[in-house]
Amino acid sequence: MSSYTLRADTAAFIDKPHQLLIGDRRPEACNQQRIDVLNPATGKLLTSVAAAGKADVDAAVACARRTFDDSPWSRMKPAERELLLWRFADLVEKNADMLAELECMDNGKSLGIARAVDIQLGINFMRYMAGWATKIEGSSVNVSMPFMPDGQFHGYTRREPLGVVGAIVAWNFPLLLAIWKIAPALATGCTVVLKPAEDTPLSALKLAELALEAGYPPGVLNVVTGLGQDAGAALSGHPDIDKLTFTGSTPVGKMIGKAAMDTMTRVTLELGGKSPTIVLPDADLASAAQGAANAIFFNQGQVCCAGSRLYVHRKHFDNVVADISGIASGIRLGNGMDPGVQMGPLVSAKQQQRVFGYIEQGRESGASIAAGGTMSGPGFFVTPTVIADVDHRSPLVQEEIFGPVLVAMPFDDIDEVVRLANDSPYGLGASIWSNDLSAVHRMIPRIKSGSVWVNCHTALDPALPFGGYKQSGLGREMGAEVIHHYTEVKSVLMQI
Ligand code: NAD
Repeated sequence: MSSYTLRADTAAFIDKPHQLLIGDRRPEACNQQRIDVLNPATGKLLTSVAAAGKADVDAAVACARRTFDDSPWSRMKPAERELLLWRFADLVEKNADMLAELECMDNGKSLGIARAVDIQLGINFMRYMAGWATKIEGSSVNVSMPFMPDGQFHGYTRREPLGVVGAIVAWNFPLLLAIWKIAPALATGCTVVLKPAEDTPLSALKLAELALEAGYPPGVLNVVTGLGQDAGAALSGHPDIDKLTFTGSTPVGKMIGKAAMDTMTRVTLELGGKSPTIVLPDADLASAAQGAANAIFFNQGQVCCAGSRLYVHRKHFDNVVADISGIASGIRLGNGMDPGVQMGPLVSAKQQQRVFGYIEQGRESGASIAAGGTMSGPGFFVTPTVIADVDHRSPLVQEEIFGPVLVAMPFDDIDEVVRLANDSPYGLGASIWSNDLSAVHRMIPRIKSGSVWVNCHTALDPALPFGGYKQSGLGREMGAEVIHHYTEVKSVLMQI
């Protein structure tokens, strides 16, 4: 039981009947079904939301299509889109404390993290994308063939908004992941149908309310809450969607990618990871140990680019693992609402069982549990866990656990650690801890991952693209790069 007193506006929002948002309508799902939403810190019912099916998704896509094809939104100039996105970001900032409470109650993360990371990074990214609205440009091209004489032909490209975007997101950063998709869509002039994760739908519903308050015409941002196999599948296979952007697991991402191919729907996939944290022999060991602990335990390890594999040079291995285990044992677990709590519960009982199953598997295979290794209730808690003595082919090393579980392995030289770091189906992020600039620069091109951090981990900036190599995904979010994923390029060749 938490002693924290919820803000009145948060409590009122949670108690509202949560329907779908399609244009300016708030209908129940056609089948009248609902999904229970639990508070992971207590396992108790928080509220329920509508469970959209195919007919609801059809209605939302039709609404987004009409709005894209013919509405004030489709005629809006870039400077007006910029202003609207700023206004939207300001409203998110004004409601930041409430949104943080929603994330904390819905996902289990600590209130401080929700406010400082989820909400703040979302606001920063909205403002970054607002700036792009007026800078989306094609280019003038000098035609190259001798049979097109100079002065008689003019070639140029245009960047046009892709159209209706179907966005499906995971539950680990519910609001932030939604903003990563919505902000570039709104900056480029697309319309959106958003399906939040069934475990964490509340902040998306609040965000859509704020979009209307900011002045977005109804139909620009629509929200269909629902199960993945129903609403998600209906959205990802919809023939009238121009772009699908998905954040979630690699198996579902593959299904979505295949469905998208049938209609040549443009697709961005932000998928799973098993990112290495590499501690070279010269590293500042105290900051490397703290950094490695943060890399895996932040957000209960439910981070796509969590540093879940640790490689430490053999001469420091025992010391660094002991330090990280000490940090893990000192982490205060509890209800994320309570001050001083550093780690909340996992998002659901299913996720708790899944993560604990990996720990049990490690125990049975003879690995040593250097810290943690337990679970508790009634909330969905798993203690921060450090595991050593594991085989590199083991599922603990090869599969994404998506919980606070670190597997630690020693290495003897750079070639070996590069080979081990790349020995994974994933390639999302990697961090190198070292002050040897030459060694670091030589390693960076050899690491097969979308991001490499040096002496930090999961450090994100709106201006830097984020995404995966290999089975960690397709395409990029953030940075200038993201504009290409929400626009189509058109070539124009004119005989003068
Ligand atoms: P998930 O794939 O089960 O679900 C993600 C979303 O997809 C949810 O909204 C879900 O309802 C929906 N979905 C499920 N089945 C579907 C189907 N058949 N068709 C369409 N939609 C469907 O993933 P999860 O367990 O919610 O999230 C954890 C995963 O997300 C991890 O693998 C994590 O690494 C990944 N993730 C990646 C990033 C990134 O940027 N690369 C960021 C966060 C999370």
